[in-house]
Amino acid sequence: MSDQTQPSHRESHLKGGFETRAIHAGYEPDPTTGAVIPPIYATSTYKQDGVGGLRGGYEYSRSANPTRTALEGALASVEEGERGFAFASGLAAEDTLVRATCRPGDHVVLPNDAYGGTFRLFDKVEQAWGIEHTPAPVTDVDAVRAAIRPGQTRLVWLETPTNPLLNIGDIEALAAVAHDAGALLVVDNTFASPYLQQPLVLGADVVVHSTTKYVGGHSDVVGGALVVRDLDLADKVTFHQNAIGAVPGPFDCFLTHRGLKTLGVRMDRHCDNAEAVVEFLAGHPGVVEVIYPGLPEHPGHAIASRQMKRYGGMVAFRAAGGEAQALAVCERAEVFTLGESLGGVESLIEHPGRMTHASVAGTELEVPADLVRLSVGIETVDDLLADLDRALG
Ligand SMILES: *Cc1c(COP(=O)(O)O)cnc(C)c1O
Repeated sequence: MSDQTQPSHRESHLKGGFETRAIHAGYEPDPTTGAVIPPIYATSTYKQDGVGGLRGGYEYSRSANPTRTALEGALASVEEGERGFAFASGLAAEDTLVRATCRPGDHVVLPNDAYGGTFRLFDKVEQAWGIEHTPAPVTDVDAVRAAIRPGQTRLVWLETPTNPLLNIGDIEALAAVAHDAGALLVVDNTFASPYLQQPLVLGADVVVHSTTKYVGGHSDVVGGALVVRDLDLADKVTFHQNAIGAVPGPFDCFLTHRGLKTLGVRMDRHCDNAEAVVEFLAGHPGVVEVIYPGLPEHPGHAIASRQMKRYGGMVAFRAAGGEAQALAVCERAEVFTLGESLGGVESLIEHPGRMTHASVAGTELEVPADLVRLSVGIETVDDLLADLDRALG
């Protein structure tokens, strides 16, 4: 197949509600067997009917594999994009996007509280190849505008909600700021998931996912994705996805696609449980502050209400007893498993200052030492509340 084409994602334009598309887009029952779920095509190459006679465009599995094509079509559909691309990890997706859109001398505006791995990618890897970056707070549209270097900035990068302080950026306003400067707005939609927020509809040009988190949803596979609206950009990503080769195998694609089918019901339960946890923590004497975009006092609440369907499963709080109590809560919790990552069916608890955000200690990105982050899972909510009650002492 040529570098610029890919098996068609016709089904990605399937109409219907979110859950219908999450379950059906990207794949039609196998014409030979009727298999309702995309088979795991564990093959690296494909028989050609005469030289160049490709069946369905498949030539070699780095370029395309039917299990991956199905996942990519479904991802495009749930994000309301034109084309979806699956990668071996979220960071592999990000690196491929940067190489497809930036050249040495170009510049990127990053959230000043970007996911640590994203910051490291720009600071330690892309910078060495001549791509510069400036951090700016996602909550401040003027600060993002001021960080843009006219003629040099190619990407304005947004995460909303951010990690772990759950800051909210205004996707529509920041898309306008990026477009005024001739740049693309990239939204890392990992924390919200496409069920709660669809950045492309609000004017973003590219959505990035760590599908490792809510999309996969079961903490059993690492993966990433890009979804784009513009077909010229899609061609560039297609070329770089194949030319760089950071693609997921068919088993990983199968697991991620299986997770995506239940995203809607899982997210509703994540949100229900998170809301109950927030209410419980807000009334607990061992907690001085609960951070959740669903709370009216959260500074991003109005924007989150406009651009998100609900407020998600991530909750942060500050322990009244300072760092010692925050660490003790993390260690005493039992149903909440002490660990990094997020977005799986199981609840996780962590201390950002000592764990996910240890590397930013002493910088402007340092997080409070009394902060605890929860990824609220979909277990029985009473068990989650009882666990927190016991852990808070
Ligand atoms: C985990 C994560 C990433 C990186 O994804 P990997 O799949 O771990 O490579 C990027 N952005 C956010 C917001 C994340 O949580």
